[in-house]
Amino acid sequence: MTLRIGFIGLGIMGRGMARNLLRAGFALKVWNRTAARMAELSADGAIATTSPAALAAGCDLVITCVSDTPDVEQVLFGAEGACHGVAAGAVVVDMSTISPQATRQFAGRLAAQGVAMLDAPVSGGSEGAARGTLSIMVGGDAAVLERVRPALAAMGTTITHVGAIGAGQTVKLVNQILVVGHALAMGEALLFAQAGGVDLERALQAVAGGAAGSWMLTNRGPQILRRDWRPGFTIDLQQKDVRLVLAAADEVGAPLPMTAQIYQLYRTLQARGLGHEGNHALIKALEELAGFTVGAADA
Ligand code: NAP
Repeated sequence: MTLRIGFIGLGIMGRGMARNLLRAGFALKVWNRTAARMAELSADGAIATTSPAALAAGCDLVITCVSDTPDVEQVLFGAEGACHGVAAGAVVVDMSTISPQATRQFAGRLAAQGVAMLDAPVSGGSEGAARGTLSIMVGGDAAVLERVRPALAAMGTTITHVGAIGAGQTVKLVNQILVVGHALAMGEALLFAQAGGVDLERALQAVAGGAAGSWMLTNRGPQILRRDWRPGFTIDLQQKDVRLVLAAADEVGAPLPMTAQIYQLYRTLQARGLGHEGNHALIKALEELAGFTVGAADA
């Protein structure tokens, strides 16, 4: 039987992911806090709903992709939350990046009403969401994953079961340590290249395919050279993830000096009102220290 799916949260990520579910032929209901954002999806055949509870009614699978831990709690357990509409036997898959510990609590609350939960955060940026090529890190019961795998396969190309509930979020935080580390390394490298007087585009071309290459360098390096700060992932959300990393690292006693420093650098950008810019704008914190900028003049 084909899954009847409800999708909550049509932001930068959610709108591409929901569209790929439609393209794969699933019957899809959508809900977004800012209702106007549902228009695009309903034009493509999704059914717009008036609350998470109304969305969840009659769905086999409810997917959430909202900003932060309290937001997932709100759409699942708030006054009009999905828990008030979802039937026993259905599955909730949270694809946001949130706290692993809170995820385990949410799963416990849903289990009490006979609803299974998986945490399935993603990596691959807005591009991966639009193209259906996300990497999806799944925590929870393997048999439940098999039930919803066709839906996940419409949104991502790499689906990895990484352990029990909450493990998906822990692995996503592993991913985020690497993402911000790559962003910092890219910023330092480009500053050095600028100061060293080499052609920045050629420098990028020369190193991107070798041992120093990364998704960050290939996708966001050219954006930095154009000084295009449009977000695939905003600084505010990136900082939220770094905060989750540092809190989880504190719980398990892992020292993360690089990540802690990046948290402070992003803080300076937020203080300058740049939280809406892309996470590659981390280089602006280094430019402030250096006293010069990289690439073209600011747009
Ligand atoms: P976004 O564009 O800012 O969208 C956030 C979405 O969450 C919007 O639909 C927003 O509704 C909704 N939302 C936030 N708070 C809410 C609340 N209290 N109640 C109901 N809805 C709420 O963010 P995004 O980039 O799509 O990210 C979504 C999640 O995916 C985040 O956890 C993020 O960390 C994760 N993620 C993002 C990327 C990326 O590259 N962008 C990559 C991997 C993972 P409104 O439209 O009403 O604001």
